[in-house]
Amino acid sequence: MNNIFMLPITFHLDKTEIMIYPTILKDDNELIMIDCGYPDSVPKLENAMHKIELSLNQLTKIIITHHDHDHMGALREIKQRYPAVEILCSKEEAPYITGQRKSLRLQQAEAIQDTLPESEKEYGKQFQNFLASVQKVDEVTVIKTGDILPFCGGIEVIDTKGHMPGHISLYIEKEKVLISGDALVVEGEKLCMAMPQYVLNMQDAQDSIRKLQNYDIEKIICYHGGLYKSDVKGSLKEIIESFK
Ligand SMILES: [Zn+2]
Repeated sequence: MNNIFMLPITFHLDKTEIMIYPTILKDDNELIMIDCGYPDSVPKLENAMHKIELSLNQLTKIIITHHDHDHMGALREIKQRYPAVEILCSKEEAPYITGQRKSLRLQQAEAIQDTLPESEKEYGKQFQNFLASVQKVDEVTVIKTGDILPFCGGIEVIDTKGHMPGHISLYIEKEKVLISGDALVVEGEKLCMAMPQYVLNMQDAQDSIRKLQNYDIEKIICYHGGLYKSDVKGSLKEIIESFK
């Protein structure tokens, strides 16, 4: 993968260590990050960038696949440190990333709070507070699904709604690489859909995966699970068959 770099960073949730994979795309003029981690991720991102001999201060753009806390958590801090960075997202996600609308994940957490067993209510409340604390940014640039962004040899913006209504994935045709966001995850060694409890519209999520079959994909970078490259077409087919 020329000029595509994964930035594995870890995050601790209670006693489990979670690894996430923001991605860097690079050409002569642009250094683009896809999703940017949890609210405390900036030093970790900086470290991971140094390992590939790059630095956050070279970033020109950040593309956010959707407004979940683990994808946009560090956005405001990066923007404050490096104000020239342009933030791109879909039209549907924009009002959540700028804070004009309340996070859909927070709305979901609020809606299920009363249904939680007594032993989980405290955690539920903490999770809501955490989601509410994610800082928004003032300004974003809206990108249209179907467009091919003229960077890094062409980055196609694919509408992969379902996990969230404005969720996008990015396809780098030249490299046959898909950056899936949370449309797909790798669990163990297996390519799967993201956990159903986090999918806001299952029908849309399934249709989005069907749509990905139309692309010539050899490798997928999943935000959760990292690189997947064993028989992508067969694996997508298997997931789709499991819908029936
Ligand atoms: Zn998500």
